Amino acid sequence: MKEELYCSFCDKEAVINLKPFRVNLCSEHFSQHLTNRVKRTLLKYKLVKEREKVLVAISGGKDSATLLHIMHKLSNELNFEVYGLHLNIGVKDFSEKSEDAAVSLFKALGIKYKVVNVREFFGLSIPEISKKVKKPICSTCGLIKRYIMNYVALYSNFNKIATGHNLDDIFSYIVKSFLVQDKEQLSRISVFTPTFDKLISRIKPLAEISENETLTYATLNKLPVAQVSCPFKNKFGLELKIKYSFIDPDYKYYPIKLNLVRTYSKLSLASRENDTLRCKYCGIPTSSEVCSFCKLLLNLNLDPVSFHKAFQGYASFET
Ligand code: AMP
Ligand code: ZN
Ligand code: ZN
Repeated sequence: MKEELYCSFCDKEAVINLKPFRVNLCSEHFSQHLTNRVKRTLLKYKLVKEREKVLVAISGGKDSATLLHIMHKLSNELNFEVYGLHLNIGVKDFSEKSEDAAVSLFKALGIKYKVVNVREFFGLSIPEISKKVKKPICSTCGLIKRYIMNYVALYSNFNKIATGHNLDDIFSYIVKSFLVQDKEQLSRISVFTPTFDKLISRIKPLAEISENETLTYATLNKLPVAQVSCPFKNKFGLELKIKYSFIDPDYKYYPIKLNLVRTYSKLSLASRENDTLRCKYCGIPTSSEVCSFCKLLLNLNLDPVSFHKAFQGYASFET
């Protein structure tokens, strides 16, 4: 007969055994434990200050749903403000379900939010844009998402942009960048990236939480999560191969992952200072005369100056 495990802090049945912390936890104590660990990450890396406005980027998936739920809880205690942002990238079915999940979560938590629809603005979805400019979908999507998040944060006076990258995401990104010797990428990996000119500070409060834990948290707290993954995601790419080779419900690799993420986060601080030029169209720090986003606009035969004028009104956020 299977032996039942009980919570280390109460007499309820345990739902998870966290070996690195030597505890078995019931649903309630697990949620409390994860919240405390995120709080420690916020304080240790000084990710948020009192009275700051944090824009949380919500994809509709389990990681960012967990992030928003926990940040919302901590915002009272640590005295900061939380707002939500979702970007609809225009991929049929996937984007509709993702937007529904993100908006349900914003409403359930009573959080002020904004949805930016790429198709409404460009007249094209991200796959259509990538086809038109003949660039891979994932890098085009990443570029547009990063730029829009920064744009909204910059023009609506946010202090921080928070994303739901978890320990396994950051670990696999570091290892992949190391294996392909991408020094540029390696130098940019960080739990905390400070604001640099028009680039708003980015934070990753789930940097020390593993993927198994965000999944467990979202499930136990019944958070609205889209049960779809992007059809364009490269399931056979190196990054996911690394991630899944090191997925460990037994937490065997947890200390190794944690050490690597902590070390790289220290090494890469302030790396944006290498961007000594400013884009001649939008003014953001860049390493060439025109930033990658404005180059994309030019490739789409859009005039960056009039695009930015119109986009500023569309992307601004009433807070
Ligand atoms: P991914 O690269 O898809 O694993 O996403 C990493 C993080 O970026 C997520 O946890 C979110 O915080 C953010 N993110 C990804 N996609 C979106 C989206 N469509 N809208 C808003 N935020 C997003
Ligand atoms: Zn308990
Ligand atoms: Zn630009």
